[in-house]
Amino acid sequence: MKFDEKYGIKSFKKVLSVVDVLATLRSGNRIIKITDDTLVTSLAKETARKHNITLIKKGEEMRRKIIAGNWKMHKTLKEAVDLAGNLKERASQFPSDREVVICPPFTALSVVGEVIKGSPVKLGAQNTFWEEKGAYTGEVSPPMLKDAGCQYVIIGHSERRQYFGETNYSVNKKMKKVLESGLTPIVCVGEKLQEREDGKTLSIIEEQVREGMEGLSTEEASGLVVAYEPVWAIGTGKTATPQQAEEVHDFIRKKIRELYGEEVANNLPILYGGSIKPQNIASLMECANIDGGLVGGASLELESFSQIINY
Ligand code: PEP
Repeated sequence: MKFDEKYGIKSFKKVLSVVDVLATLRSGNRIIKITDDTLVTSLAKETARKHNITLIKKGEEMRRKIIAGNWKMHKTLKEAVDLAGNLKERASQFPSDREVVICPPFTALSVVGEVIKGSPVKLGAQNTFWEEKGAYTGEVSPPMLKDAGCQYVIIGHSERRQYFGETNYSVNKKMKKVLESGLTPIVCVGEKLQEREDGKTLSIIEEQVREGMEGLSTEEASGLVVAYEPVWAIGTGKTATPQQAEEVHDFIRKKIRELYGEEVANNLPILYGGSIKPQNIASLMECANIDGGLVGGASLELESFSQIINY
């Protein structure tokens, strides 16, 4: 075991046992840095989870965890205000190492923004357009979202790709405007069932990443959040296994590393989305490259969303 001055945390080289976890707990630390080849015993893993101790792999120290709720086309104003208010009340019980974002429909953004003001819960939108203002009936621009209190915007959700003609090209245009406006895009990528069955998952993801991010500078790319959402898992009750999800998350991080270098790749939060529930979030979050979740159905109820945040 050796002490890391910079991060004030301990690093383990070979085997991390429950004794090491308990020693860390006694010392008041909540983070243990491990390397790729550290063998973590299952009791050590369980004890760390029980005591909220995070195991971080080298190079992942800065990555933040994000749990974002996509409310889709749900909630009247009253329902939205009630849920946001209840979440705000619970926020002090949420672990401090995760960022909580809620994405209500446009109609409720501003009122929900008022409700959660001053709390750690952040506001996001579900879509935007790439122009700032003008004759674009029905559209809402990134500066308008910012004005309504948003910090995040979901872009390229598969439901937008499927029903509203979203393409990698429009994702790219939106992303640039969103970044320019000082908002954080949560960019969704994911393969359809047929594409997975045809063995095309990684090539589809590669195309979505390359075309969606085309022309972004390294600085712009460092402001992104990516969500891997296999289309066949969204709203279907079928979750990707941690292995299936981790394979794609690892692939996305490698692509970002190729395009933008080590630092951007290591700091990029990659969220998983697709039928996340209180029962499956913990096993997904154990994966080295899964940094959070984009939650649809289960984010509509206080209890299930809180349990997911507290996984
Ligand atoms: C989503 O809307 O992004 C989503 C993943 O939905 P669900 O959790 O309901 O599958």
